[in-house]
Amino acid sequence: MAKLKYLVLHCTATPEGREVSSDDIRAWHTTPVSKGGRGWSQVGYTDLIHLNGEVERLVDNNEDANVDHWEITNGAKGYNSISRHVVYVGGVVADGKTTKDTRTKAQKAAMEAYVKEFHKKHPNVRIIGHNEVAAKDCPSFDVQVWLKEIGINQ
Ligand SMILES: [Zn+2]
Repeated sequence: MAKLKYLVLHCTATPEGREVSSDDIRAWHTTPVSKGGRGWSQVGYTDLIHLNGEVERLVDNNEDANVDHWEITNGAKGYNSISRHVVYVGGVVADGKTTKDTRTKAQKAAMEAYVKEFHKKHPNVRIIGHNEVAAKDCPSFDVQVWLKEIGINQ
């Protein structure tokens, strides 16, 4: 068990406007590599923010300041034992390749409420984008700029 240090924001890297279910994500992440999945033992994110702003919990979490073994999700290599990962549905335009902040109004509102509540509870846990700890475009927007916009100074 380690201390929680990061809240990492992600996108599903799926086309704008297309819904993704928790079953989809579970299948992508936990299906054996031989069958086209990632072959992980656990899904990559604790919470999933749907297009309509609904927040779906994928992996149990007791909301305390530690990352228990059973809370670990596989969102960012090298950071999982000290992180919580949250993902919104979307992140690329319809061609499926070009990065874009596709968050709907409802998703932005839900994410804002989520990070504000989280920050209140865990003021010393740094909120970052996946792209700040890996050479990736995820989550398709600048998390630090957005946090300032919504009044979070960490
Ligand atoms: Zn990511």
